[in-house]
Amino acid sequence: MEKLFREDLKYFKPYKVGKENYKIKLDANESFIKYPKEIEKEILNAVQNTMFNRYPDEMSRDLRKLYGEYIGADEDNIIVGNGSDELIQIITNTFLDKGDKAAMVMPDFSMYDIYTEIARGSMVKIPLDDEFNIDIQNLIDTVNKEKCKILFLSNPNNPIGRIIKREDIIKIIENCNSIVVIDEAYMEFYGDSIIDKCNCYKNLIVLRTCSKALGAAAIRLGFLIANIELVEEILKVKPPFNVNALTQNVGSVLLKDKDFIIKNVNKIIEEREYLYKELRKIKEFKVYKSYANFILIETKNSDKINDFLIKKGIKLRSFKEGRLKNFLRITVGTREENNIVLSKIRNF
Ligand code: PMP
Repeated sequence: MEKLFREDLKYFKPYKVGKENYKIKLDANESFIKYPKEIEKEILNAVQNTMFNRYPDEMSRDLRKLYGEYIGADEDNIIVGNGSDELIQIITNTFLDKGDKAAMVMPDFSMYDIYTEIARGSMVKIPLDDEFNIDIQNLIDTVNKEKCKILFLSNPNNPIGRIIKREDIIKIIENCNSIVVIDEAYMEFYGDSIIDKCNCYKNLIVLRTCSKALGAAAIRLGFLIANIELVEEILKVKPPFNVNALTQNVGSVLLKDKDFIIKNVNKIIEEREYLYKELRKIKEFKVYKSYANFILIETKNSDKINDFLIKKGIKLRSFKEGRLKNFLRITVGTREENNIVLSKIRNF
């Protein structure tokens, strides 16, 4: 059988996160907000009204319209995906021929690399400096010198929580000869989106998701925003019915209530600032300022703390190797969850 498999996938590992039941789960940058009863009721209605025997709308028209209103973009500039994760893969499949290069900074979101390799491209990894700052000119020079076709950048960055300022993003878009993908998965927690520039630049693609600020990771819903020329090209690769009808219907309910989203984002930001302030009091920790819904911590004892917390039923994200060895990433939880984690860490 093995001789039928792709040689280059030999050392790939399936993406598995496990299904352990932790009392407090702060490892995946999910939202801690629960939907109130009224919204739950609307969600049930949306499920009930789903036509299960029919294929979904292949272009997710209602969602594009609603999301366009939410972010202030035209629906024609939007493609909907089965999570932004799928959209990353659609991008690599659209633009990379065999052997083509893409670029990313290190550390950044690992799926950029994985989907590039799956598309038979290769990833040029540009390290951040010791303080995780980007040398913008070096980034531009590398992308151009290596003839990269795509540059991926998350803003705010996962796992650091840092942001790239608007003028630097614009400098990158204007000077890189590549497609520039700005992944704004955590943008609501920061606020300075570059979506308004999508029709100004031929090479800009922005990604957004409902998995973080909207608290809807379960339904797998992501958005791509770009100029029409790029949208038309990317649509050639998008699978026909990639967003199922349940997700389309439930997503439409969630996107209608902008005030609810803003209220939740503010609540999460408030908790982030509380958690940041408290973590900084722990002498052993170097705590990185975050503009997302998680906080990165550097500590010699990261493995030991992680093992200790797992035994107490608490799951954080622990990084084991490379530049992020000795780092923990903690998703912002409820005040109660944050206080429990803080007190366990202090006990440790
Ligand atoms: N981009 C970044 C930077 C992320 O951190 C994540 C999820 N952790 C994603 C994209 C994927 O999000 P989703 O597929 O849930 O939309």
